[in-house]
Amino acid sequence: MESHASDFVVVGGGIGGLAAALELARRDVGSVTLLERAQEFGEVGAGVQLAPNASRVLDELGVLESVRRTAFCPQRLVLRDAVGGDEITALRTDEHFTARYGYPYLVAHRIDLHRSLLDACIGTENVTLVSGATVRDVTQDANGVLVRCEDGRSFVGGVAIGADGINSTIRQQLLNDGAPKGTGYVAYRGTVPVDEVKRSTGSDELTDMVIWIGPAMHLVQYPVRGGQLCNQVAVFRSDKYDPSSEDWGAPAELDARFQMAAPPVRRSVALIDKTRRWEMFDREPTTGWVDGRIALLGDAAHPMFQYLAQGACQALEDAHVLGTCVDSELGVEQALKHYEEQRFPRASTVQTRARMFGEILHADGSLAAMRNYLLRRRSELDYEPVDWLYLAGL
Ligand SMILES: Cc1cc2nc3c(=O)[nH]c(=O)nc-3n(C[C@H](O)[C@H](O)[C@H](O)COP(=O)(O)OP(=O)(O)OC[C@H]3O[C@@H](n4cnc5c(N)ncnc54)[C@H](O)[C@@H]3O)c2cc1C
Repeated sequence: MESHASDFVVVGGGIGGLAAALELARRDVGSVTLLERAQEFGEVGAGVQLAPNASRVLDELGVLESVRRTAFCPQRLVLRDAVGGDEITALRTDEHFTARYGYPYLVAHRIDLHRSLLDACIGTENVTLVSGATVRDVTQDANGVLVRCEDGRSFVGGVAIGADGINSTIRQQLLNDGAPKGTGYVAYRGTVPVDEVKRSTGSDELTDMVIWIGPAMHLVQYPVRGGQLCNQVAVFRSDKYDPSSEDWGAPAELDARFQMAAPPVRRSVALIDKTRRWEMFDREPTTGWVDGRIALLGDAAHPMFQYLAQGACQALEDAHVLGTCVDSELGVEQALKHYEEQRFPRASTVQTRARMFGEILHADGSLAAMRNYLLRRRSELDYEPVDWLYLAGL
């Protein structure tokens, strides 16, 4: 094998890959080459929630202030009944929350978060960013890895990190577990001017992260870009789901499903861009993210439902833990093993609980009535149910 062109080759320039590249470079554990298949680095035009476990990593990466410049700090996380329209419960994300968890709950535009990480990588001497590089496979021997691209280019390194998302090529090499499982759930999402959402919901202000929950459907709304735009995500289970076809989950079905919703919800859903839909996939938690000098990170390792808004947060946690493991006395292969040992229990718990939380959000009939009854009794300052998520991880 040729001598190393860089110490680490990161495959995938999403939030996870960029954070990993930055973390490794910042610790000065070696040079990093990041390969992204898209011609230009970028993210989709939608929002992302960043819980304190993510804000903490962003701070350690030195990008929290840049993210905060355009992010929004919601006052509360609120669940509302999508059918009845009334508030069910809330969690305050004000100074009480920040005092408990040490970091804020932020909601950001994905493009802004991605840009902050990208700019930090560009400004870091030992990171080389390569776009338009679709990785085909990775091989390894005792001395290093060889990462080969579809266009014939190849990159040598000491370690390869597969941060290539839910349909990861690197995962298939390591685990060969096929495509993720379809679930029949689909999302439509995008940002609109906040004033339009204020009009559709009849509210004077939009300062909370709100989830309107109903039978097999929900709508998420929160401000981004300092409160100028509102991110909306409408999710529902298609009755026409057929994994062998694309002919399901269409906008007409979205509208039909939300017909039962309260008028503010229906008017808000009408504002969402319907040109692209996101199918919701699932995988069982699986070990085997690491093989010798190759490791998986982010959605490639542990794709999860977005119901706890943790996929990107967990990718950031991965990046941080990967950095601490590699920046140690351990040899490379031991360090990667240690990374998986630390991260698997945590990420798989979040994966499993996100699925459970989805079932709670989408409950119907007497189950939904019981959920609402129990949740209405809790205080907005009762943080204990989320301590496991926001206090742990690093
Ligand atoms: C509707 C929805 C809402 C969500 N909301 C939240 C939220 O509020 N908070 C949160 O924390 N998470 C949220 N998530 C989850 C979050 O978006 C993902 O977990 C996160 O983006 C994963 O980041 P990643 O870097 O691992 O993968 P990705 O973002 O998928 O990045 C993978 C990158 O690898 C590149 N790539 C793929 N294959 C190759 C290849 N062969 N060669 C080179 N490059 C390749 C891709 O082009 C891409 O740039 C949400 C998800 C959805 C669907």
